[in-house]
Amino acid sequence: MTAISKLSSLARPSRRNSIGVSVGGALVGGPAPVVVQSMTNTDTADIDATVTQVAALARAGSELVRITVDRDEAAKAVPHIRDRLLKRGVKVPLVGDFHYIGHKLLGENPAAAEALDKYRINPGNVGFKDKKDKHFSAIIETALRFSKPVRIGVNWGSLDQELLTHLMDENARSPEPLEAREVMHEAIVQSALFSANRAEELGLGADKIILSAKVSSVQDLISVYTMLADRCRYALHLGLTEAGMGSKGIVASSAALGLLLQQGIGDTIRVSLTPEPNGDRTLEVKVAQEILQTMGFRAFVPVVAACPGCGRTTSTVFQELARDVQDMIRDRMPDWKSRYPGVETLNLAVMGCIVNGPGESKHADIGISLPGTGETPAAPVFIDGQKAMTLRGSNIAAEFRAIVEDYIERRYGVRSTRDVAE
Ligand code: SF4
Repeated sequence: MTAISKLSSLARPSRRNSIGVSVGGALVGGPAPVVVQSMTNTDTADIDATVTQVAALARAGSELVRITVDRDEAAKAVPHIRDRLLKRGVKVPLVGDFHYIGHKLLGENPAAAEALDKYRINPGNVGFKDKKDKHFSAIIETALRFSKPVRIGVNWGSLDQELLTHLMDENARSPEPLEAREVMHEAIVQSALFSANRAEELGLGADKIILSAKVSSVQDLISVYTMLADRCRYALHLGLTEAGMGSKGIVASSAALGLLLQQGIGDTIRVSLTPEPNGDRTLEVKVAQEILQTMGFRAFVPVVAACPGCGRTTSTVFQELARDVQDMIRDRMPDWKSRYPGVETLNLAVMGCIVNGPGESKHADIGISLPGTGETPAAPVFIDGQKAMTLRGSNIAAEFRAIVEDYIERRYGVRSTRDVAE
């Protein structure tokens, strides 16, 4: 084993030994890689809009898509959404998100209960006082009837207040009381575990239960999931709730999820970004994929290493080429994925000048080092660590893209030259 491979094996912890759950054919937990999921923000009763968004999320790489089921019209739309997606060739598992009246909607809409691949319920609002267990039991019985898994998703914004009050009172009487924050963590974990145990008592197998315990602070999320992972083997859905918009949401989610995933905690992830008005909902899928890929847990798309640029790259040529290559990968990936198995492991480099350009490019499968300010106007291209050619003139971007396409065809094509040689 080389020094580098020793380091990479040290850097990749083994996953927590969770119980695998099949969700519409997609395995979550157990030996499966971490699954990327997302959620629509359309009105589910608007079948056209929901089908369009689910298809877009699936096309972007979401392996499970959750839809809101908040009223009868939404529940009635679910089987039509399922059918329309299948007609479009979209087979992504659909998860129904239920709050307050999930027991009623599922009970009165068996076609929706059948069409969904998983139910997500929140023990904090499934019912109150004497209704709580009745409603919870009704949902679990529907899950048993249709053989569906359930995610029991605790959220600190809708935490079971009776449980929290009970634990706070108990803590107040303790000779060594914990801080309120620690009691809240315990309440979140107990709420998830209590509901999971009750679901098992009602007959739902552990292989049909996924837990989540979402909070909006990075440190709280790490504490809560570390406790949960220590105290059960249920598959865990990981996500920072209300992560926020733009870079704030991306950074907070990456920090929290990255640290937990590094400890082997988390079987499926969602990045809960608030989109810009009319913004692209698929961004949350790209960010989730990028978290997993940059940490070396999964590969989804070819990675482009690009330097940040500096005073040695005073023109915009370098930034434009880096952006062109990144856009090309996103645009071409659906086609590449179907034609070139393994293409997602490709590494590219787009570098700004001679300082680190040739070195970084040699480490990539294909790399280009553009001429920085004051350098000879030539761009050497490196393929598999060797200098293969030098591009010059005003058409460097198009020529480099053609080189990438050609390389992918040769290396990953079904009848590639490598296959023939072997
Ligand atoms: S490779 Fe060159 S252009 Fe890029 S950051 Fe380093 S010195 Fe600057």
